[in-house]
Amino acid sequence: MSAIQELYQEVILDHNKSPRNFRVMEHADRSIEGYNPLCGDRFTVYVKMNGEVIEDVSFSGAGCAISKASASVMTQLTRGKTQEKAEQLFQDFHKLVRGELDIAGREEDLGRMTVFSGVSEFPARVKCAILAWHTLRAAIKNNTTTVSTE
Ligand code: ZN
Repeated sequence: MSAIQELYQEVILDHNKSPRNFRVMEHADRSIEGYNPLCGDRFTVYVKMNGEVIEDVSFSGAGCAISKASASVMTQLTRGKTQEKAEQLFQDFHKLVRGELDIAGREEDLGRMTVFSGVSEFPARVKCAILAWHTLRAAIKNNTTTVSTE
């Protein structure tokens, strides 16, 4: 493994072991469940909005290391961001895990999400990585049904 792959691996393992914002949010404005039947990942994403801004975001549930680490990183990246910025991050992440995003020079802007670029080499894992993002997006759009990656 190259040094950069090792770093990625380390970040994903760390977020899987100690997920950030991993809690049920009392008094959430919106909460929605996301399910990836291919792998069995199932999370609930909670959002507290302040106008257009995501004031707080958290998640609960269970899933594989990739899905859990991705949800954890997502909460870090989107908290305090506007709905519009979160949508941009979603689009970037969507392209990233499909290997369609040029991350050169954008490392700062994209932050820790770049650790998931390696997922594009494992098509079965793309849905694990994107699950929490799809779920957050639905919560922001105020959908109420369960989100499925299928
Ligand atoms: Zn999974």
